[in-house]
Amino acid sequence: MPEFVLGLKCKSCGKLYPKQPINFCTEDFGPLEVVYDYEAIRPHVSREKIERRPKTMWRYRELLPIDGEPTVGPQVGGTPLIRADRLAEAIGVEKLWIKNDAVNFPSLSFKDRVVSVALSKAREFGFTTVGCASTGNLANSVAANAAQAGLDTFILVPADLERAKILGTSVYGARLIGVTGTYDEVNRLCSQIALKYNFGFVNVNLRPFYGEGSKSFGFEIAEDLGWRFPQHVVCPMAGGSLIGKIHKAFEELVAVGLVEGPVTTKMYGAQASGCNPIADCVKSGRERHKPVRKPNTICKSLAIGDPADGYFSAKLIQQTGGWAEDVNDDEIVENMLLLARTEGVFAETAGGVTLAVARKLIEQGRIPRDEEIVICITGNGLKTQDAIAEAVGEPAIIKPSLTAFDELFAEAHQPEPMLV
Ligand SMILES: *Cc1c(COP(=O)(O)O)cnc(C)c1O
Ligand SMILES: [Zn+2]
Repeated sequence: MPEFVLGLKCKSCGKLYPKQPINFCTEDFGPLEVVYDYEAIRPHVSREKIERRPKTMWRYRELLPIDGEPTVGPQVGGTPLIRADRLAEAIGVEKLWIKNDAVNFPSLSFKDRVVSVALSKAREFGFTTVGCASTGNLANSVAANAAQAGLDTFILVPADLERAKILGTSVYGARLIGVTGTYDEVNRLCSQIALKYNFGFVNVNLRPFYGEGSKSFGFEIAEDLGWRFPQHVVCPMAGGSLIGKIHKAFEELVAVGLVEGPVTTKMYGAQASGCNPIADCVKSGRERHKPVRKPNTICKSLAIGDPADGYFSAKLIQQTGGWAEDVNDDEIVENMLLLARTEGVFAETAGGVTLAVARKLIEQGRIPRDEEIVICITGNGLKTQDAIAEAVGEPAIIKPSLTAFDELFAEAHQPEPMLV
C-alpha cells in the first residue's frame, strides 16, 4: 500500500514530527495527531471498493495509520447501526439511531477499535511489551488483543474497578496491576513506566495512533446511513478522544471525496455529574476544563478527572454548535433500563449516561425532536451488572408444576379493583 501518513503534528502549535511512538510536542506539550495526504488517498478509495471489503473497521484502511496489513484485531468493527423506533417513541423524537459497539469484537466495547490500531502499530515499531492505563474497557481490550497477538502486557487500573472488568482482563493472562488511586494517578505512573522500560502503552506513547482507531466508529455511521451524516451525534466522553474522532472521520470522508460536504453535524458530549470536567467546561463557557480531583459516579468507564483531550473536545462541541450535559447515577440506571426495554440493547453505565444526556438535551430544546439523532453506545452492560442489579430485582421462583405457574399467573392478572 502506498504511504499516506505524512507524520505527526502538534494540535497546539502545528509543529511536525516524523512517525514515531511519542504523544506530545516538545515545544508546548500539545497533543500530537496523525496527518494524512488526502489528495494522495482520493484516487485509492471509492464507495464501491470499500463496500466490497469485509465488514470490519479495516475497510477504511487508507484512513488508518498503519503501514502494512493490520496484524492485531483484523476482525474489529462493523457493528450495527440500529434504527431505534421504539426508543424514539418513548422519548418523543422522530428519527433516532443507535450505533451499537456493545457488541464489538472481541471485548465488547469500542476500545477494540483503538487497540487494534495501537497494537498493530506497536508491532511495526518493534515493541514486544505493551500496556495501558485504563478505566476498565481498555484493559479488557488490550488484554484480549495482546493475547491473540502473543504480546506481553502490563495493564494498570484503579484498584476499585468493577469485578467484571478486572476478571475480563485477567482471564486473558494479562499482568494486571490495581493502583490505589484515581485514573489520573494511574495514567501519570504509566507515562513514567513507558519511558523508563520502553513499553508500548497504547494510550500513552502510542496515543496519536490509538486515537485514529476511533474514527472508524464515525466512518461506519456515515456509510450505514447511506454515505451521509446525521444532524446530531450524542457521544460519551472520558478522555474526550472519541467525540473528536467521529467528527474528524466525517471531515475526512469529505476530504477524500466519499461524501459530499460540508459537515454540519452537531456534536454533543455526555458525562456523569460525578465526573464532568468537559461538560462543565462547555456549560460554564470556560476556555479550559477544571480537573475533577475525586471522581464519584457509578460510571467508572468515563471517570477521568483530567481528560487528555478535554480542551479540544470542548472546543469542537462549541464549534459544531453542539452542547454537553451531565447526569446523576439514578438517571444513568433509569436509562440503561429504558434502552434495554425498548431496543433490547444492554449497555453499560456509559450507555445510560449517553441516553440520559440525549434526553436532557431534547427536553432543553437543544436537539430538535424532528431531526436525525445518533446515540453512541460504547460498552456492554454485562460488565457493569452491579449498577442495575437492585433496580431490576429478582425473578419469581416456583416449583416445577403447572399449578405453581397457575397461581403465579392468577396473582399477576388479578382483575382491577372496582371503583366505588
Ligand atoms: C473509553 C470509553 C469512552 C470514551 O473514551 P474517550 O477517552 O472519550 O475516547 C466511552 N465509553 C466507554 C464505555 C469507554 O470505555
Ligand atoms: Zn506544539
